[in-house]
Order: sequence, then C-alpha cells, then structure tokens
Amino acid sequence: MPLPDETPFEDRRHPGSDTSRLEPEPQIVCVDCGGRCFLLTHPPEDGRWEPGDVVAYRCEDCLDRWDLVLPDDEP
Ligand SMILES: [Zn+2]
Repeated sequence: MPLPDETPFEDRRHPGSDTSRLEPEPQIVCVDCGGRCFLLTHPPEDGRWEPGDVVAYRCEDCLDRWDLVLPDDEP
C-alpha cells in the first residue's frame, strides 16, 4: 500500500523572513574552555526580548561569565 504523497502541514518550514521573535540561546559554548554556558538572565515578564538587551551566561566548567548583546534585527 503506497504512502500518500502529501506533505503534512506540520512539516512546513517558516519563511526565512519570519524573525519576529528574538530569543537568546538558552545555552552557548564557552569560548575559553569549550564547556557549556547557561543563560543567567531571566526573560522579561512579557517574554519579549529587545535588540540591545544584554544577557549573561555562566560557564559550568570555568565559571566565567559572558555577556552578550542581542543583535538588532534591522538590516
Ligand atoms: Zn568555560
């Protein structure tokens, strides 16, 4: 019995231009030791991050702190 040849709706990708939600990575790789750095900063109450927001990460291996600035989405 052949499978249906239709792509399910869930499989559709978002268009590349849809970047309305700006979110920091929950985890990054430590530049110093290659360990895992976890997001320290709590999300804003409304859950909306703004470009230019500073988020802090803490490395679990060397305990270094990293501050990242969220990129501006404007071209
Ligand atoms: Zn580290």
